[in-house]
Amino acid sequence: MTGPGLLLQGGTVFDGLGGPGRVADVAVVDGRMVAVGTDPPAGLRRIGCDGLAVAPGFVDTHAHSDLVHLLEEPQPFKLLQGVTTEVVGNCGLTFAPLDPASAEVASTLWSSLAGGVPIGPASFGELADRLDRAGPANNLALLVGHGTLRLTANGLEERLRPGAAERMAALAAEAFRAGAVGLSSGLIYVPGSYADTAELVALARVAATYGGVYATHMRDEGAHLETALEEAVTIAATAGTRLQVSHCKAAGRAAHGTAGRLLERLAAARLDGVDAQGDQYPYDAGATVLSALLPPAVAAGGTEAMRARLRDPAARAALRAQAERGGIGDGAWVEADPADVLLTGHRDPGVVGRTLAEVAGGRDPWDALCDLVAADPAAAIVLRIMREDDVRAIMASPLVGVGSDNGPPTGLEHPRTWGCFPRLLGRYVRELGVLTWEQAIRKATWLGARQFRLDGRGLLAEGAVADLCVFDPASVGHDGTWLDPDVPVRGIEHVVLGGDLVVEHGRFTGRRSGRVLRRQGTTPR
Ligand SMILES: [Zn+2]
Repeated sequence: MTGPGLLLQGGTVFDGLGGPGRVADVAVVDGRMVAVGTDPPAGLRRIGCDGLAVAPGFVDTHAHSDLVHLLEEPQPFKLLQGVTTEVVGNCGLTFAPLDPASAEVASTLWSSLAGGVPIGPASFGELADRLDRAGPANNLALLVGHGTLRLTANGLEERLRPGAAERMAALAAEAFRAGAVGLSSGLIYVPGSYADTAELVALARVAATYGGVYATHMRDEGAHLETALEEAVTIAATAGTRLQVSHCKAAGRAAHGTAGRLLERLAAARLDGVDAQGDQYPYDAGATVLSALLPPAVAAGGTEAMRARLRDPAARAALRAQAERGGIGDGAWVEADPADVLLTGHRDPGVVGRTLAEVAGGRDPWDALCDLVAADPAAAIVLRIMREDDVRAIMASPLVGVGSDNGPPTGLEHPRTWGCFPRLLGRYVRELGVLTWEQAIRKATWLGARQFRLDGRGLLAEGAVADLCVFDPASVGHDGTWLDPDVPVRGIEHVVLGGDLVVEHGRFTGRRSGRVLRRQGTTPR
């Protein structure tokens, strides 16, 4: 978009690389930063930034906004947090490539991520083109999901059929040729959880061929965190990809206090030549589907088989025995106290906003869980399973960036959907001092842009793409709670996207200036 250009005047500028703030003017012309602290061209529209911080636009490396930008109304919920690029397609769950059969299964299992947008068959390139044409509020970079590749190539069967591995590899290559920036996996979700390490290595090799990153929701984030991380490092090392460990945490009582070991292993992987880092959301609760509490074997064979199993007392007891073993791949039941499981989405509105313990009442919570999942396999929850000292230890690491892990911006979602980035800055920089401003800004910008190869973004420098966030350090924050998550952000004043002023004085201007940032080039590296 060419306009008169902008001059952000008098703010404290942060470069995104971790350098300290300095007062400087930033001139923007034709979508690029053309002068930082030097003589600007004449005739620019002036925007006063006295007392404000001027940072590169934030990069949300772990988003689930895959489909919501297809809604008729623009969706500025990330832009209002200062986010100019979301990396979507995380946790192995993408909405392409889908054929008619896999689209039907995806609509049953993953509709809680779709925000009401119908899930239908689409090639990866077709979905990318649709998103581009729709005009997302912010930029999107797309991962291709292993779970989706497997669903399309092999249905919900645990064992790969002859030819399925080759089919997955071909579909992955097609996605990379259409601009995917990486491969994601979600190894607690069916059917991704059915994969062994070799299957993942084979697909990560395709990612490596195209210069893509491997981003993983690991097989375990609790008692078996270290084993799961070992597998992630092995996959990246064997295939030759960069590694992004999604939503780093130490989940559940057995893992509390082990954040340091996660960070040590990430650092050790780097010493061994694996470009490993992670992301995190600044909260002590996660959010997922209710079925993640069950062993993944519950869904083998499809959703009707799953419902039948959950209604059969013998099968229910067998699943429970497996869940209570608490081994790797046995589900998150042992990590979660039913009082800490808040239902945020279910076909039955009567249970939404209540905990699993409350819904169970006098009944056994396991039975309540099975009934709830049988009635709605896509039921969604907020799950309080982290300890604050682990959250802060992970946050303090320079190897861990920021990923909101948002859901659709409707209803009772985790507050991170609306407030992840302002909360990081307000609570963990200004109030608690866990990070300095320049550390937090680096984590929210350059760190992710580098790992996902968003060239020209994530830094504030002459020649960089003009994605910028101007915020008030004195007021930035977000007060969303579990039961009242969708409250307005404080202190995000202006957001510039590719040179366009898209948020002005905290309000979305209505301009849909985002686009899909495709991996450059169509040939393998
Ligand atoms: Zn995940």
